Amino acid sequence: MKRMYISEIKPSSKQVLVKGWVQRIKLLGKIAFVVLRDSTGILQCIAKKNIKEFSNITQESVVEIKGVVKKSKQAKKGHELEISDLKVINKSKAPLPADVEKSKTFIDKRLDYRFLDLRRPEIQAIFKIQSEIANSFREFFYKKGFTEIQPPSIISSSSEGGTELFPVKYFEKKAFLAQSPQLYKQMLTSSLERVFMITPVWRAEKHNTPRHLNESRQMDIEVAFANQFEVMKELEEAVKYIVKKVLEKCKSELELLNLKLKIPKAAYLSYEQAIKKVNGKLGEDFTPEQEKKLCEMYPDTIVFTHSWPVALKPFYIMPKDENIKSKISEGFDALFNGMEISSGGQRIHIPKLLIEMLKLKKLNPKNFTDYVNSFEYGSPYHAGWSIGLERFTMTLLKLNNIRECTFFPRDRTRLTP
Ligand code: ATP
Ligand code: MG
Repeated sequence: MKRMYISEIKPSSKQVLVKGWVQRIKLLGKIAFVVLRDSTGILQCIAKKNIKEFSNITQESVVEIKGVVKKSKQAKKGHELEISDLKVINKSKAPLPADVEKSKTFIDKRLDYRFLDLRRPEIQAIFKIQSEIANSFREFFYKKGFTEIQPPSIISSSSEGGTELFPVKYFEKKAFLAQSPQLYKQMLTSSLERVFMITPVWRAEKHNTPRHLNESRQMDIEVAFANQFEVMKELEEAVKYIVKKVLEKCKSELELLNLKLKIPKAAYLSYEQAIKKVNGKLGEDFTPEQEKKLCEMYPDTIVFTHSWPVALKPFYIMPKDENIKSKISEGFDALFNGMEISSGGQRIHIPKLLIEMLKLKKLNPKNFTDYVNSFEYGSPYHAGWSIGLERFTMTLLKLNNIRECTFFPRDRTRLTP
């Protein structure tokens, strides 16, 4: 007999074989009740014969059950499985180290036992939605004719000029884990023109906040012959498409999480307009509180802040009018549900300008020779952005900690499991 997933079982199904985990087991007089769970749902099963055998089955044991589907008024779904045969495939140790059915356990303990935590349908729902986010991001850009690329994760020098890198030993050389695919995706615009990728990045930032990880995944694009406004529009459309797909494909997951999503609108403000709106200081970054305040002024909206000061953006962001003296850049941020989900902008594709900018930012151009040289032989102007996959999942699902939507988080103190 072929195994059926619980979600495939209908009241009209007759003889079935199901496999999964014993979520609960209760012996009541001459009847045994087993709540069976697989990755698709929950099924009430009852046994009226040989129930002695059931008495030593522990919670979360893996079993396979053969039985007959029967209508039942007591069962939530209106049907249950009358067990004709139950086989224990692997008995679980008891007691469980963390409560699988309740969410009260603290996040640290839950993460210590993440494999158990993920037995809860509402936790699985988060990751099923995240899977749909990644899939629809791919689908959106694939359909548009972009090429998916695979940038390296081990790099020889900083891609952003910052110091927040994890060093690794690479034979006799020193290398680093990539903090972004920035330089590689830029180089590829001079051949493939339009590229996208989902790739892990590592940042050795010492802070420990609810919205930062030391290893995260980025959804990136880079586009030849584009400026900041053109790629902001791509971001707006991509996010709308992703939310539309999540609404279509993840109905039961959203229900489990008690979430009502809307396809967002978009608002475009210059940095100057935006910082004034939240009474911020011109020339300074938005504080987390100011990001939140700005989003509250535009509910259910992706808030773009564009044309940022050169001083607040990385060295590779193009100054306005390709003028090194310009104080305004072609760089932007996108905020959603209270925090930054993306940064992007037009890049500098002119080697001379790039060297001047590196110097302006007090970086040594010698450390960027390969990068600068890659723009010497016919590089188009280009722009792109990066959305943090976990950050976006967190904001879309209004989670209070980015670790909730990271399978196995890597943060300042956590390296296991
Ligand atoms: P933030 O200001 O939120 O710390 P950032 O400006 O340093 O982020 P970028 O370099 O712009 O980050 O990275 C692009 C995107 O990647 C961010 O908009 C965010 O969605 C995500 N991201 C950046 N850093 C982290 C991190 N430490 N953990 C998780 N996601 C991150
Ligand atoms: Mg940023």
